[in-house]
Amino acid sequence: MSEKNWAGNVTYRAGKLRRPRSLDELQEVVGRATTLSALGSRHSFNRIADTAGELVSLDRLERPIDIDSETMTVRVGGGVKYGVVGQYLQQQGYALANLASLPHISVAGAIATATHGSGDLNQNLSAGVRSMQLVQADGSLVEVAPGDEDFDGYAVALGALGVVTEVSLAIVPTFDVATSVFERLPWPVLLENFDDVTRSAYSVSLFTRWSADTVDQAWLKSRVGRRADINTVAQTTETFFGATPARTRLHPLPGVSAAACTEQQGIPGPWVDRLPHFRLDFTPSNGDELQSEFLVERRHAVEAFEALRALGDRIDPVLQISEIRTVAADTFWLSSAGDRESVALHFTWKPLQTEVEDLLVDLERALAPFDARPHWGKVFTAQANSIAPLYAHLPDFVSLADRVDPNQKFRTDFLRERVFGF
Ligand SMILES: Cc1cc2nc3c(=O)[nH]c(=O)nc-3n(C[C@H](O)[C@H](O)[C@H](O)COP(=O)(O)OP(=O)(O)OC[C@H]3O[C@@H](n4cnc5c(N)ncnc54)[C@H](O)[C@@H]3O)c2cc1C
Repeated sequence: MSEKNWAGNVTYRAGKLRRPRSLDELQEVVGRATTLSALGSRHSFNRIADTAGELVSLDRLERPIDIDSETMTVRVGGGVKYGVVGQYLQQQGYALANLASLPHISVAGAIATATHGSGDLNQNLSAGVRSMQLVQADGSLVEVAPGDEDFDGYAVALGALGVVTEVSLAIVPTFDVATSVFERLPWPVLLENFDDVTRSAYSVSLFTRWSADTVDQAWLKSRVGRRADINTVAQTTETFFGATPARTRLHPLPGVSAAACTEQQGIPGPWVDRLPHFRLDFTPSNGDELQSEFLVERRHAVEAFEALRALGDRIDPVLQISEIRTVAADTFWLSSAGDRESVALHFTWKPLQTEVEDLLVDLERALAPFDARPHWGKVFTAQANSIAPLYAHLPDFVSLADRVDPNQKFRTDFLRERVFGF
């Protein structure tokens, strides 16, 4: 087996890739395996889904998408892509509160790593879970839901607690969004007005190279008709904190065609076609990039920006583009936004693994004073000993994993090295 992740920087070591077609078959595969890891849509940039044992994918396990308008939830298979769920919900008049930048990511895989979009009031995607069905290490099925004693452990589980087969997600009535893009937001203005900038729209993304005097682009995704967002929608022809409205649709990367990007220029449209940065019908088979991301507590945002700007000359040669987003706090034990309002500092790197990892040693050191938590699914160098102090509930997670997976079936090398520490 020589299967790779989307970015091509990880070749999975597993001897077998299992693709069960039924729940019974999946339970048998999991129950029988000695070491096993669930594989989602392969969009992580590190060995989090890798194992020397067996991999199991849910891509052949068909589950219906089932809307319950009484409880305002949608039940989906763990392997389905967010974009597919989103299109179905939109057809039926419903929406999810938020999405990540790429709609091609699987629901269970995204939840497992605390994948997030942006927005001062938007929590990560795990926060949308209303219940989850898992196949546990012994092959039995369990259903967990918010309010259960250990749910805050299950919500972001890094694949360590079982294979998620079905998820119920909270839904809301559909809404329209308009994306306005502004260019060249002066750094000094942003540092002075960061809170006002990020509260300007439902979801704000700032694209920067750190070393320049201005942030390249500010993407403001506003909910149409929502009072707080009306000003931003109207602002397509005015300046935004000194930034000027983009004349055409833009890709976050300078000079790259915007054909893959969702609609901009303040043109309203359904949430599902606006909240991701990239279109679902644009299918990236693999990516010529690596990604890293670090989440700091919001009150440290400006200091963290300054630390990164001081490293700007080192970052520049390997960087394609960075993105700054905000994420609302949640209560999940291993969530990168757990117990704190957060600012996410994202890096899309050139595909230069060694150079990126070398730089990350210094970059992570520069962000350490702000207790920066690495995105679990992206490239980072920190090991378990430096990660443990960042998560007060890690001991609870370890004892939960020991209880539900006593033979450490799901304990991959990545989990031992980065999380459990043994
Ligand atoms: C182009 C691109 C854009 C991205 N944009 C964002 C973004 O906007 N925001 C953000 O936060 N992240 C983003 N990411 C990162 C991505 O969301 C995460 O890495 C996510 O975990 C990938 O999900 P996946 O389905 O590909 O899972 P995989 O990478 O295959 O696996 C990730 C983890 O999920 C576990 N897992 C997968 N399926 C299951 C299952 N059924 N049951 C239990 N565990 C399971 C795996 O074991 C592993 O631990 C992006 C990645 C790419 C490539």
